[in-house]
Amino acid sequence: MITVQKFGGTSLSDASGREHVLRHIRREYEAGAELVVVVSAMGRRGEPYATDTLLEWISANGDGLAERELDLLMSCGELISAATLCSLLNAAGLPGVVLTGGQAGIVTDNKFGAARIIEVKTERIVSHLKQGRIVVVTGFQGATAEGEITTLGRGGSDTSATALGAALQAQVVDIYTDVDGILTADPRIVSEARQLAVVSYDEICNMAHNGAKVIHPRAVEIAMRAGIPVRVRSTFSDGEGTLVTHADAAEGHIGWSDRTVTGLAHVKGVTQISIATEGAALNPQLQVFRAMAMNGISVDFINVMPSGVLYTVTDRDASLAVRLLTEMGFEPRVRSGCAKVSVIGGGMNGEPGVMAKIVEALADRQIPILQSADSNTTIWVLVSEADMAASLTALHSAFALHAVS
Ligand code: ADP
Ligand code: MG
Repeated sequence: MITVQKFGGTSLSDASGREHVLRHIRREYEAGAELVVVVSAMGRRGEPYATDTLLEWISANGDGLAERELDLLMSCGELISAATLCSLLNAAGLPGVVLTGGQAGIVTDNKFGAARIIEVKTERIVSHLKQGRIVVVTGFQGATAEGEITTLGRGGSDTSATALGAALQAQVVDIYTDVDGILTADPRIVSEARQLAVVSYDEICNMAHNGAKVIHPRAVEIAMRAGIPVRVRSTFSDGEGTLVTHADAAEGHIGWSDRTVTGLAHVKGVTQISIATEGAALNPQLQVFRAMAMNGISVDFINVMPSGVLYTVTDRDASLAVRLLTEMGFEPRVRSGCAKVSVIGGGMNGEPGVMAKIVEALADRQIPILQSADSNTTIWVLVSEADMAASLTALHSAFALHAVS
């Protein structure tokens, strides 16, 4: 049986983390698993071999790389990490071999910096596994059919892991990270956040799309399509973590998939734009959204009314959006530094009083709701970034999420 283990940057960044990594590998290997180990680059911005550090290095040295060469550079962090881990494995008497993404059979399109996986050819991995080796694969990267090295974009190592898991029909993909599992909210902001024992692919996809960066949503989608279970668990403990599976697949967890609220997520750096369109030329709404689309600005929280439009863009896109609107003759009103807070749960559909509870919890703390929207499984509120942490804490307690499991 094949198990895929993925270790994130913080798990590999120092010697003590790497000891823990080795411990998890040894445990599974000695239990008889055929192991494919996907690694990220070691550490975060500022640490020597982190991807952001490599990028800073090049911007200080001419800043002259085209996308193809940037991907060559960005693929180095994972190579160093994989070679380091392989050396430690061999020194500990465990037989390791390193494959780059391309060597591991991950074939991508040629969109450098954000490549999509087209196919995974497993022969080479399978042959190493047959010979009893632990295959260490550099995450976050693949190669085009012509052999050009590509990278998969942010969170790409999660995607490497589930894509390999799907192609190899692994029994499980274990995502090891610096928290105990998937929690009811980001523990860096909500200290009462609780670990969830089981979540559905849909629930975590929804949380991840709304900003919970514990796992990349594309990685979850790949696992879901292949029906491969994923566990998110801690490198630094022996906890079982959180099982991600189909809503009906986990026995003994009856009812968990239709809980009213599963968790909270947040996204910072949002700008709210409002425009009065009364008296404007024909179809002003269409003009506005066409201009945003043609300039690659993605929009969110859209309210179209006879009197105007209200929507959000990222702070990053805000100045371009405002310039376009001004050139078109509108007078946009702009509020930057907002945050989108999401309340997520598959069981809130048709359940009365969820919105009332949200409004009450925020009103109690004098937190103004700048805008809101909802779907079957999510209610979003826009608040000022300064109110974000207090909003998350208030909602966490209003929905008694500390008592969820
Ligand atoms: P890695 O380097 O292992 O890929 P990441 O930083 O990408 O780690 O993801 C782990 C981080 O995700 C945690 O440290 C935590 O702050 C954050 N996070 C955000 N939302 C959640 C959540 N709902 N549950 C758990 N972790 C979360
Ligand atoms: Mg990550």
